[in-house]
Amino acid sequence: MLSNIVFSKVTIVLWLLSILLTPAQSHPRRLSAFHPPKDLAPKFTRNPQALSLASNDFGKIVHKTPKAVFEPCSVEDISALINFSNSLPTPFTIATRGRAHSVSGQAMTQDGVVLNMTNLNAFKHGSRIKVVCDGKSSWGCYADVGGEQLWIDVLNATLKHGLTPLSFTDYLYLTVGGTLSNAGINGGTFLLGPQISNVLELDVVTGKGKFVTCSPEKNSEVFYAVLGGLGQFGVITRARIPLRPSPTRVYWIHLLYNNFTTFSKDQEYLISFNERSDTNAADYIEGQLLLINQSPLDLSFYEPSDQQRITSLVTQYGIIYVLEIAKYYDNNNEARVEQEVANLVKGLNFLPTFMFKKNVSYEEFLGRVHASELLLTSQGVWDVPHPWLNMFVPSSQISDFNEGVFKDIILKQNISPGGCLVYPMNRNKWDDRMSAVTPKEDVFYSVNLFRFAVQNVEKYEVQNQKILQFCKDADIKIKEYLAGNKTHQEWVEHFGLKWKLFKDRKAKFDPNRILSPGQGIFQ
Ligand code: FAD
Repeated sequence: MLSNIVFSKVTIVLWLLSILLTPAQSHPRRLSAFHPPKDLAPKFTRNPQALSLASNDFGKIVHKTPKAVFEPCSVEDISALINFSNSLPTPFTIATRGRAHSVSGQAMTQDGVVLNMTNLNAFKHGSRIKVVCDGKSSWGCYADVGGEQLWIDVLNATLKHGLTPLSFTDYLYLTVGGTLSNAGINGGTFLLGPQISNVLELDVVTGKGKFVTCSPEKNSEVFYAVLGGLGQFGVITRARIPLRPSPTRVYWIHLLYNNFTTFSKDQEYLISFNERSDTNAADYIEGQLLLINQSPLDLSFYEPSDQQRITSLVTQYGIIYVLEIAKYYDNNNEARVEQEVANLVKGLNFLPTFMFKKNVSYEEFLGRVHASELLLTSQGVWDVPHPWLNMFVPSSQISDFNEGVFKDIILKQNISPGGCLVYPMNRNKWDDRMSAVTPKEDVFYSVNLFRFAVQNVEKYEVQNQKILQFCKDADIKIKEYLAGNKTHQEWVEHFGLKWKLFKDRKAKFDPNRILSPGQGIFQ
């Protein structure tokens, strides 16, 4: 009896103390005390090097310092971490970190815990990339891959079996969980859809610490929530990626235009062949800008003997649009592919004599951005701040965008614009049940401004704001892709009609709002 009274007095005092010591905020954000259960404790590190790494990302603009970094050895550790946070009166935030190739702190947390997914690799019991062709899946062959795996490693593992994933990003040194939390797009998206449309099944640890296997048929709500879900609902620990026989070669051409209307009309014509069975279809359609104020002009695709006349063209017009087409084939199909590409190009209105071609291996084609990375790293200009801006622009407004942004802002301002991509995709290759948002038109463009701010990062940030403001004023209904630094209200506008669904999913799968705080959506 006495012990009961003493116990309840102690409990009340502890309870009062916990209230007094808890920061006065309605949602848990900071890890104030640090007493993890015994079995989890060794997996937290506060070593300065790990903290410093976790406070940075590819963007090199936003910095947030976590209280600790968690190094999981297994998927169970991830559940245990999330359960530990949820068990506290004030749960701490958890930033899932893939390769941190975000540019605005999306994989960071101030005073919470960074979950370092790539550590799963160090403790693998067998490979976390398994290629399966057991005849049981209706799809055929697939790869089961850990969410922490890099796409380049997935590709290399599948190529050993003569197979390949269908959908890629332009750069493959990104994690599977990271790109599936966004969308994962490139010039093949018009034909096969983004990477989020090419997933058969997922394992997810939700924000409640629950392990769920999900697919369009099983636990579909979790499946659709996490694809394009910006890390808000759970941690993707495994993805089942469909595979197909791999091509070996790529016929790759560039066509130059001085007129945007003709250029975009031809791009849209090419993406209208978008059935996989259609031999007329290209495999990849992108577009890029050559601008007079790009320094240096990237002409690495072209033979030295052609570079001078291309430079003269850029000098003459200020801006040249490059339509890029790739067609995959096998070693023994070269003659046929040449004919197919000739058919594709017939009737396009590029500048006569400004067609250039290359013939490369499939691996070389998929590794093209990494090749640039190696070059720029050797020149000391890769590892600098990256004030990137990525947008989806409705097709009906892309000409206004060209006039107002490419010509009136980017071309006129005295800062080197970096790489500018512009290419269309078909909305019917996206699945609206997923969390990703796109403009509401059948065709929309991806516009990517890849800036490398060797100096003057602020100038680029001002320019980005100017571009966004122009779109707002001109009522160009863009959707930012890979967005960061938004206010709560801006996020609500970004999701538009999907906001309620997104918010309800958060309440259901991560009610304590602990996951991926760096996106700034619910904090
Ligand atoms: P991180 O930056 O580590 O994480 C991104 C977000 O996802 C964070 O909110 C994080 O918390 C969350 N997250 C990470 N892993 C998981 C997981 N396992 N489960 C749940 N949430 C998770 N994108 C394209 O679509 N197409 C391109 O062609 C393309 N090219 C790029 C080229 C370069 C050089 C760079 C730097 C980026 C490029 N991107 C491209 C953008 C890239 O897809 C995203 O930045 C992606 O998030 C990077 O993956 P990551 O592993 O570094 O993710």
